[in-house]
Parts: sequence; structure tokens; C-alpha cells
Amino acid sequence: MHRIEDTLTQVQNQINSAAKAHNKNSNDITLLAVSKKHTAEKIREVYTLGLRHFGENYIQEAQEKQAELAALEITWHFIGPIQSNKTRAIAEHFDWVHSVDRLKIAKRLSEQRNAYIAANHSVDKKGEIKPLNICLQVNIDEQESKSGVMPSDAVETALSIAKLPMLALRGLMFIPAPSSDYAQQRATFSRAQALYKELQQHCPDMDTLSMGMSGDLEAAIAEGATIVRIGTALFGAREA
Ligand SMILES: *Cc1c(COP(=O)(O)O)cnc(C)c1O
Repeated sequence: MHRIEDTLTQVQNQINSAAKAHNKNSNDITLLAVSKKHTAEKIREVYTLGLRHFGENYIQEAQEKQAELAALEITWHFIGPIQSNKTRAIAEHFDWVHSVDRLKIAKRLSEQRNAYIAANHSVDKKGEIKPLNICLQVNIDEQESKSGVMPSDAVETALSIAKLPMLALRGLMFIPAPSSDYAQQRATFSRAQALYKELQQHCPDMDTLSMGMSGDLEAAIAEGATIVRIGTALFGAREA
């Protein structure tokens, strides 16, 4: 059995030493705890240890945990594939969406977030409206039947999304083809970073490069990740 306080310390040490080795500031890197298939109690435990950002992939599962944990100040990130009939629930229950992979989905999220805000929800403690933070998912390895826009379409699609009201386009998200080879991981994330830099030339406010999971965390940080999405290394293996 893993003790979560130990695995959390390990992951944080990994982030800090990768940042140091590659001349990055670890304060610029957010650890997103990917809690899919793990219980609300586990989330509460990690929250108590100081984490505030949690990522979920399945809307129904997420909503059940969100209801249980409503008293906590969690920033919820949706990171799973998005079907159009689920956009309303996502627009109403999350602070971030990393897995926007087409303009149509972004338009629906924008309209539905707008309706939700108009109904006077989703304001912060000062009563200010909160747009939905968005990352465009890019299929960096151009894998068949995987989510994400093609790299060649990424900047144009991002610029269209950036114009939509009630969304704040924050950057790009990547899930590379699995590889355990460090040099290969670096090469892929380096292409991801180049695309992100290109987008930043058009949108200097862009501040989020969401990449790196349990198996490729160091390579992602070396190439400038600002959010790493960590499940297994933190919570242990998920049941199928
Ligand atoms: C499940 C998942 C993760 C976490 O993966 P681990 O290998 O368990 O760290 C990260 N990002 C996305 C999009 C996921 O679906």
C-alpha cells in the first residue's frame, strides 16, 4: 500500500529536481492531481496535504465527488474526451478544460458557460464572473483515432477559440504516444513547446503548457511544462 503523503513527497521532489536540472522555476509548475477512478476520500487526503488542483475524466464520476467535496476550495480540471452532449455539465462544474479538441466544442462551452453565468452562478467571492479556462488539445504525434487537433491546425483553431466570450484560452495540452525512451519524450515535448511558442507570438497572454504524466514528467518539465497531470505516481494504479 502506498501512503499518499509519501508518494506526494516523491512527486514533488521529482518536480523540484527536474525543474532545477533544467533551469526552470518549480513555482511556475502546477501539480494537477489526476483523481479519476479514485475516491472522494483520497482527494480529501491529498487536499489536506496541500494540493488544490484536481483533474477528472468522466463527468458523472466527477460530479459525484464534487458534491461530496463541495466544502473544499478545489480547482477542478476536466481532462477527458468530450462528447457534445456533455459540454453543459462541463461548463457548469469545472474551472478548467484541457481537452478541447475542436471549435464546435469550444463554442458550446462558451454559450453554456455564458448561460450559467447569466443565471448568476460561477462568480468568485468578490462577485466577479469567472470565464472557463481552456487548453486546446493537440494530437502532437498525429495518432489515428486519438483526440486533439492536428499540429498544422493548432494555431488557427486556437485563435478562433480565443475570440469566444466566456472562455479564457490559456494554452495547449498534449498527450504524446506512449514511449519510455527519454530522448524520444524530449523530442516530442520539444515540438509541443515550439507550437506553444508560436501561439504565444499571436497571444502573449497565453501561459499554460499542459503536458507530462507519471511516466514522462521530467521530459515535460525540461521542455517547459507549466501544468503536469499526475495520477498513478500519486494515487497508485487505477482499477480498469
Ligand atoms: C489519466 C490521465 C493522466 C494521468 O496519467 P498517469 O499516467 O496516471 O499519471 C494525465 N492526463 C490525462 C489526460 C489522463 O487521462
